[in-house]
Amino acid sequence: MSIAKNLTEIKSQLPAHVTLVAVSKTKPVSDLMEAYNAGQRIFGENKIQEMTEKWEQMPKDIEWHMIGHVQTNKVKFMAEYVSLVHGVDSFKLLEEINKQAKKHNRIIDCLLQIHIAEEETKFGLNEEELNEILKQVQNDNSKLENIRIIGLMGMATFTENTAQIEKEFKHLKAIFDKLQTSNSQLQTLSMGMSGDYQLAISCGSTMVRIGSSIFGNRNYQ
Ligand SMILES: *Cc1c(COP(=O)(O)O)cnc(C)c1O
Repeated sequence: MSIAKNLTEIKSQLPAHVTLVAVSKTKPVSDLMEAYNAGQRIFGENKIQEMTEKWEQMPKDIEWHMIGHVQTNKVKFMAEYVSLVHGVDSFKLLEEINKQAKKHNRIIDCLLQIHIAEEETKFGLNEEELNEILKQVQNDNSKLENIRIIGLMGMATFTENTAQIEKEFKHLKAIFDKLQTSNSQLQTLSMGMSGDYQLAISCGSTMVRIGSSIFGNRNYQ
């Protein structure tokens, strides 16, 4: 199957309110251009350096999403162009994104990453930490005018157990719904990857991050 065919196939399954992020990490620019020529304009990467190299080489009407864990000292390399940072998990990181966005006179959208998986290794906040960060943002005197928190992101456990994954997605959706009642800026719920996006959509996802089902399996070397 070609990248263009994969994209068409996946897009035909997505409801109109669900945004597709094509996760192109490890893939060459030629593969991304194939997706671009098939109409895809939103790409997700998990390493800032790799994303920046691709941004430099590719057309400028692309929205770049950082979906990986972000180190504070690397924010400056993507502040000029990044559209959405999915994996924000500290107030300190928000402050740094704000500071770097300001230098470029931009507003950068952010999602707060919630830990929903059983694995210890996955990054993210629990509900208490999430509320703490939102409170800090609200009380901050500098007002963080160059960032906008537009929603939440989460990754389910890597397992064949669908019931487990569903439970985790529903947990994230419940946190999202609770927050939405008091904060109308929150509209984006980023959950679902190649293996579980249909389930994620049925649980309320509004943004899916799909890599291998579009570009084929990744070859890490
Ligand atoms: C790699 C990655 C994806 C895409 O994974 P696939 O299973 O290839 O669709 C989605 N989200 C994050 C955070 C990732 O790192």
